[in-house]
Amino acid sequence: MAKASPKVAVSTKKPKLGQNFLVDLDAMQRIVDALGDISAKTVVEIGPGEAALTELLAKRAGRLIAVELDRVLAAQLRMRFSQKPNVEILEADILQVELGTVLGSTPGPLRDLRPTGLIKTQVVGNLPYYITSDILLKLFSACDRIETLVLMVQKEVADRVAAAPGTRDYGLLSATAQMYGTVEKLFELGPESFDPPPKVRSAVFRMVMKPRFDELKVDESGFVRFLKIMFAQKRKTVSNNLKLAYDKNDASDALIRAEIAPATRAEAISLEGMARLYRELSKTGNS
Ligand code: SAM
Repeated sequence: MAKASPKVAVSTKKPKLGQNFLVDLDAMQRIVDALGDISAKTVVEIGPGEAALTELLAKRAGRLIAVELDRVLAAQLRMRFSQKPNVEILEADILQVELGTVLGSTPGPLRDLRPTGLIKTQVVGNLPYYITSDILLKLFSACDRIETLVLMVQKEVADRVAAAPGTRDYGLLSATAQMYGTVEKLFELGPESFDPPPKVRSAVFRMVMKPRFDELKVDESGFVRFLKIMFAQKRKTVSNNLKLAYDKNDASDALIRAEIAPATRAEAISLEGMARLYRELSKTGNS
């Protein structure tokens, strides 16, 4: 592994902000490469830190918006990229950032007349692991503004996001993510690729946003809520989980019509099967 040269300055890393900086040059390259050609794209980077990825992104992206919560790091980044007109550094909490507001609409004379002129973005980041789930949920709900995500997360999270139905890691996170797009786990990294090394292994995944709600004929908010019910108690059967929210008879009728055995566990059901069941339950008026 080729490592970036160590910084001479006294370490100011804040473990509470998930500051484990990437020092593996090959991994930096692979993460940025995974975005493909971004020369005409807008890229949002979550948590640029000491610019391990930002430096490469600034060279390649048409426009780069880097969102960093740490005030000191944000100020350093602003100085470092002040001569780069395609780079904006936002000092903000990514969980509070409205992607729509940050991105704006397509520039040009038709800007205010064209409702479909939304800028879509690529999102990249070595995430602060302490808020991974919140960031993922936020990004999923902004799916209309995002084309591709390339994210470094804890290995177990990447395994869950990318897991296929029926496998050990498949669960609520997998089902929810896969309703929003296609997920591919790219590679893993050990703690030695970071400074300071985290206690866990890490992995990078790519997700191409392609929501399936219309195709599966379900409404987004209702179906996401339904998935939570279905995976509420992972070891229980669907029939037992359904009892938490539906009338017993309605639930068993819907299971028959959706052709799902009552003793099946949620992790063994495909998204098509889940959607069939949700549609049948919606017909009972009890959803
Ligand atoms: N991208 C850099 C790298 O790969 O070396 C830093 C990654 S480090 C794992 C996570 C970064 O996210 C840190 O710079 C941290 O300060 C920043 N961060 C933590 N919480 C944040 C939040 N809520 N919003 C934006 N950035 C945050």
